[in-house]
Amino acid sequence: MTVSLGMPALPSTRETLPPRPLGEDGLLDRFGRVATDLRISLTDRCNLRCTYCMPAEGLPTQPANQLLQADEIGRLTRIAVQELGVRQVRFTGGEPLLRKDLVDIIAACAALEPRPEISLTTNAIGLSSRAAALAAAGLDRINVSLDTVHAATFLQVTRRPFLERVLAGIDAASAAGLTPVKINAVLLRGVNDDQAADLLAWSLERGHQLRFIEQMPLDADHAWERDTMITAAEIRGRINERFRLEPDEAPRDGAPAELFKVFSPSGGPSLGLVGIIASVSEAFCADCRRTRLTAEGGVRSCLFSHTETDLLGPLRSGASDAELADLWRSAMWAKPAGHGLDTGDFVQPERTMSAIGG
Ligand code: SAM
Ligand code: SF4
Repeated sequence: MTVSLGMPALPSTRETLPPRPLGEDGLLDRFGRVATDLRISLTDRCNLRCTYCMPAEGLPTQPANQLLQADEIGRLTRIAVQELGVRQVRFTGGEPLLRKDLVDIIAACAALEPRPEISLTTNAIGLSSRAAALAAAGLDRINVSLDTVHAATFLQVTRRPFLERVLAGIDAASAAGLTPVKINAVLLRGVNDDQAADLLAWSLERGHQLRFIEQMPLDADHAWERDTMITAAEIRGRINERFRLEPDEAPRDGAPAELFKVFSPSGGPSLGLVGIIASVSEAFCADCRRTRLTAEGGVRSCLFSHTETDLLGPLRSGASDAELADLWRSAMWAKPAGHGLDTGDFVQPERTMSAIGG
């Protein structure tokens, strides 16, 4: 069943869909893309209030029994991996560390054959005591969101004074072997855009791999503006004030981040890599390989979708694996060509990044 979220659809979703080819096993869409990268939101709750994501007062959350339970996540992940060709699974949220059963969820995913690559996107609060157990359960890689290493700016961006806890979490992830730790940063004009090179220097010194993500219109406050957001070109300019960048030759292979080797302007060997995810100004929708499950078990074919396909209801009503797989395939067949952010009729989704799963 497709649930309308009460917003106008992107133009492409209003089109009559061509029939889905029979006999296709994977998550093919009508533009020929095949999704192999699954992002699962484990909760819509969070202990930070990043201004580009959540409102200061927080958002209404779903009751726990309306969220996917660990066994339901295990079943849907198994269907995704064994029936639908998913090869990478990323757990996110909301804040996934708020799930007490996170270790069990990761262990179940790691036991699947074929074994998917398992990663986690987190704000790292509470990670210091859990990183070793998560790595032991089978977590392969971790992305930690950190927009600044200055306490006052951290408070301004996240509305919480928890920088030290995040830094302790990053250290624990490194010590647990979840290396290189990837750091996700969003730059906001007049807040931390002057700190891009500082954050890169800090990351390189510690062997972390920094990725700047262009701010997208998925905030609860609807404060995003195309004209004032910090673009990838501007980010490169900020970094070039202190470093020299060279494009990394390794094939991008559908990855959202464009990677650059970082050098000192005075020469010498590469200091490491930096990534830029230009979701808005240099959109990579044509090569998108992602499918998403919300914490309530809805398939979203795109971050910017206005519709979701409920899997949790059918699952709890006794649907078979084959029926759930088919619902998932149909949801992905309808994936729009692109998010349309650069067109005049873009409409921001009702859900925020925290509720969709970033
Ligand atoms: N709470 C976890 C965290 O912050 O890492 C996981 C969920 S969060 C929604 C996932 C990622 O989305 C984070 O790296 C965050 O910076 C990013 N994000 C949130 N809102 C965004 C926005 N409006 N534009 C771009 N990235 C955003
Ligand atoms: Fe929470 Fe992550 Fe959103 Fe920040 S970006 S408010 S940490 S869900």
